[in-house]
Amino acid sequence: MTVPRYTPLAASLSATSPFVGPETQERATGKLFQARLGANENGFGPSPKALDVIQQAATEVWKYADPECHDLRHALAQNHKCDLHNISVGEGIDGLLGTLVRLLIGPGDVAVTSLGAYPTFNYHVAGCGGSLETVAYKDDCEDLLALIERAKSTGAKLIYFANPDNPMGSYLKGEHIVAALDHLPTGTLLILDEAYIECAPTDALCDIAFEDPRVIRMRTFSKAHGLAGLRIGYALGHPDLIAAFNKIRNHFGVNLLAQKAALAALQDPDWLAHIQRELKDARQFIYEVAQSNGLTALPSATNFVAIDCGRDEAFAKEVLEALIAQGVFVRMPFAAPQNRCIRVSCAPRVVLEKFASALPSALAQARRAHPV
Ligand SMILES: *Cc1c(COP(=O)(O)O)cnc(C)c1O
Repeated sequence: MTVPRYTPLAASLSATSPFVGPETQERATGKLFQARLGANENGFGPSPKALDVIQQAATEVWKYADPECHDLRHALAQNHKCDLHNISVGEGIDGLLGTLVRLLIGPGDVAVTSLGAYPTFNYHVAGCGGSLETVAYKDDCEDLLALIERAKSTGAKLIYFANPDNPMGSYLKGEHIVAALDHLPTGTLLILDEAYIECAPTDALCDIAFEDPRVIRMRTFSKAHGLAGLRIGYALGHPDLIAAFNKIRNHFGVNLLAQKAALAALQDPDWLAHIQRELKDARQFIYEVAQSNGLTALPSATNFVAIDCGRDEAFAKEVLEALIAQGVFVRMPFAAPQNRCIRVSCAPRVVLEKFASALPSALAQARRAHPV
């Protein structure tokens, strides 16, 4: 029998999944979730205009989509007041991170991230044979200056920094990010993952020139725009770096419906404003649910809220599992000390009410299992 002759790197890796999907959990229990609040999806849905476009374009799916995503890039360039050559569109931020890491990280190269930050970056670094340095969160925020210090001491090629952050929902003001850039060592590229920027206060935005070679920004249509299932996002950066994506990217990776729906979503600012209002209300509701159960919700600049369960990982995990057993899908951070929290996505009120009614008994169960 012929066996695939894996690269030494592939042979050395074990198969893992950054996130076990709710579908996997549903198959395992034989029960469907009643409330889907674990993946920071936008349960309010995409712009009705995007939905119309998807329906109209459905008969065109026999075609390959434009590999240059020209129309969308053109509209994005207008929105951001930049040039077409500052933008690369990809299969969500996850896909773009993969391409970027492949461009920069080979065996032995170092990348820096926060311990317990958004994990997909880490899997791409491991998949390219890079080594990952992690820096602790500080007061539930990613510590940008400490990340930069670590990049200096290790000669890292990449720093991953999400603003706002997932899983804690915290954010750093844009002006502090801009100031921190002065400390960035030459040869280190900062990835600024802005997946939740549309959910955040406006002072989270950074005033960084698109031609600045020190930073690449990433945005997505998965969160505020509600198109997670279509897989589409974009990178904003220096034209040379953006052009390098064309060396190795999956040119036909961004599908036809995604390109058209993203364009329609972008052209519907009223819907985005509506979502922003809904998110504000939903965050407030989650804060109140936490408070009325004697827990502390962390202030959130995103479409989810981290709730501090007040104890350790084992306790938070018990709460999480008791919620899941009641049909409420939520997740929790991967690393200490963040993993004292559970993470609940914003959603329409009827869905959040399922969480609200399941939480008291979930807490009671966790207290029985872990008496103080
Ligand atoms: C959800 C999320 C992503 C994933 O975005 P896609 O565009 O759906 O791949 C990236 N980064 C962070 C911080 C996220 O929370």
